[in-house]
Amino acid sequence: MTLKIPPAASSVLSELEKTLGERSPANGLQLTDATSLSSHPSDSSRVLLGLMALSHKARSGPEANPELLEGVIDAGVLRSLLSALHYRDPASLHHVRRTASVATSLARFLGWDGRQLKVLEVAALLHDMGKIGVPDNVLFKPAILSPDESELMSLHYNIGLDVLQACRVDPEVLDFVGSTHSFSDSTTSRFRNINEVPMGARILTIADAYDSLRTEQVYRIGKSHAEVMSILGQHSGTQFDGNIVSALGRCCKDEGPPEYAPGVHNSTFTSNPLGALEALEASTLCHIFNHLYLLESLYDGFYLIDSDMRVVVWNRGLETLLGRSAGDMLNRIWTDRELSFTDLHGESLVENELPLQRVLATGRTVTTSLRAKHADGAWKEVELQTVPLLDNDQRLYGVAGIVRDLGRAGRKPQEFRELRRAATRDPLTLLSNRGELETQLAVQMSEQARPDQTTPFSLIFVDVDHFKSINDNYGHPVGDKVLIELARLMQQEMYSGELVARYGGEEFVILCPDTDLDTAVVRAERLRNSIAKLQIADMSGRSLTASLGVARYESGDSVESLLRRADEALYLSKDRGRNQTSSLKLGQSRHSRDTATAEANNDPFLFDAEFEALVSHDMVIYKLGGFITENEAKLMKVTQSQVILQIGRVNFIPYWGKDVASQPVELELNIGKKVGGHNPKAVSCNAKITVQMKPKGWIRQPEIFQQRAKQLFKDLRAFFVAETPLT
Ligand code: GH3
Ligand code: MG
Ligand code: MG
Repeated sequence: MTLKIPPAASSVLSELEKTLGERSPANGLQLTDATSLSSHPSDSSRVLLGLMALSHKARSGPEANPELLEGVIDAGVLRSLLSALHYRDPASLHHVRRTASVATSLARFLGWDGRQLKVLEVAALLHDMGKIGVPDNVLFKPAILSPDESELMSLHYNIGLDVLQACRVDPEVLDFVGSTHSFSDSTTSRFRNINEVPMGARILTIADAYDSLRTEQVYRIGKSHAEVMSILGQHSGTQFDGNIVSALGRCCKDEGPPEYAPGVHNSTFTSNPLGALEALEASTLCHIFNHLYLLESLYDGFYLIDSDMRVVVWNRGLETLLGRSAGDMLNRIWTDRELSFTDLHGESLVENELPLQRVLATGRTVTTSLRAKHADGAWKEVELQTVPLLDNDQRLYGVAGIVRDLGRAGRKPQEFRELRRAATRDPLTLLSNRGELETQLAVQMSEQARPDQTTPFSLIFVDVDHFKSINDNYGHPVGDKVLIELARLMQQEMYSGELVARYGGEEFVILCPDTDLDTAVVRAERLRNSIAKLQIADMSGRSLTASLGVARYESGDSVESLLRRADEALYLSKDRGRNQTSSLKLGQSRHSRDTATAEANNDPFLFDAEFEALVSHDMVIYKLGGFITENEAKLMKVTQSQVILQIGRVNFIPYWGKDVASQPVELELNIGKKVGGHNPKAVSCNAKITVQMKPKGWIRQPEIFQQRAKQLFKDLRAFFVAETPLT
């Protein structure tokens, strides 16, 4: 369906389109090289870094045509956002174009002109940006959405505002877009009556509804102009401003109603295919948006501060939690004094205890439980995770604050440690941490599953020999220094695209893509020799050695089985006298898959099961929120493919009490996509979830654990499938 846009109606867009031929990567965001997002931003801190990069470009990007937008938004940023929307869903781009056209025609009819009109047009063009982050199965569902799906869909309002804030759009654009949403969404409306809603938002709401009703939707056919006007009329006074609806009627009488006829959209924007770099940038933006929905659904609020310490994002969640509006907070110079933080006992914090000060001093993520003052004077207990956002050269790009409301029913301070674990970097060595390693391993594995994939990948497990004695002889700080030196050496030695991660303590894992076992062994030996030659200043000439184990991915391996085989190879090296490299093939492993499975099944303290969720991979994390809240679970780790939860309290005396229902258990959920997951635009299908449970703490009777695990599994499954009895 196409709308004939009157020539003057969409000035911004038509001007923008003229410059499309000049679209060059230098004018774009270059997000892809500003952050190491590549194609797999895997968790919160990467997403926030991506958002920060967007904000950075919005401030410093070359303004191609400053007069065109009069500072309402950077032209390059607007173009990138619209390209991303087009990349994700061409139909949404057509919708915002037509909405902008209707809105500006209507506003001009009402006497608007100049910059006001541009603000309105930009707001209309960007009012649906958040839809980019909505999972495929919801966005492209060929039917009316279920209540869960609608709830998820409504998160797109928040996601859109997060992104628009990061893009430093004119505050009035934010006001129009934000008010349009809270006004049209009756469940969250903060307006008592229409007169409180900004005029731009009232116009935009009507233009948006007009276009949606006129166009054919997957679940209904498009309506005629007269039918639409009658519907708008029926809801005048409540959902729509009656004066503006009648103005629209008069405007269409004068100028003729917009034409909706089948045909091709003759726009440079939609007919020009994106170049490779633009497509990469668009897909990066789509990834950022997609992960923002995870942040929005799991945390109570977050903010971003740029390198000038100005607030650039203050999300809806924080507005509610702390009673401070984005309009009030954006662009302010941030100090932690802003929210009058105190500790949980109400003692005010001294300068060097303030989270931001600690982050700036150490460059590490800081997690603190605090009290912050709500605008109404009440104190809120929160957990604040303050995360430094570092670029590839370890320069500070900005800082993010992620907030959890500790006062929410049933939650306790120590139960919110997940982001500390979820952050990708190990604070001491700045290598990737274990969570990140596992995420990247899962990515490699999913690529191995592709039929055209022939090159294998390998793992090198490294463990320092007699490290404890270094600590004992030279002190812990020297031990730390050794680890940092080793990390540096490993990164120097590995230059073929390997991922070096700190697995824990003095153990490291190197993921070698496109590497067979023999090549990986050669590389491991080279590293072992370099380690033996390393001179550490404070160790008075004493040399350092390490033992290494190598394994190659073989078909059917899981993240766990591959890591276990490399670890086993490492222990062979230890057994053989240390300072050696060993490798193991699948058949040589003590834990070859068959025995591993048999062992797992025989382990009375391991519960292992899987089920097919009747929701897509994209929806799992979102749905899980309910299960987490209901069970007061503690999130230990969260990525898009794996979640680790702890349910039940672990007491100081780790003894399982008598009450089965409260005994502490750790659940590891691995969320698998069923085949068909490689096409980014494919409508996703149901996810397969494998669940492993282990008791936390000490327990003697396996039956009690199995009983508890079975019940939890049943509860969990009930969140994802229609109730069926567990047999
Ligand atoms: P082996 O040759 O058998 O591997 O002996 P080891 O001493 O290296 O191994 P073990 O696992 O017994 O000891 C590891 C030590 O590493 C114990 C722990 O105190 C130390 N360690 C773990 N993390 C850190 C850290 O971040 N800094 C320092 N300085 N020491 C650490
Ligand atoms: Mg060790
Ligand atoms: Mg060791």
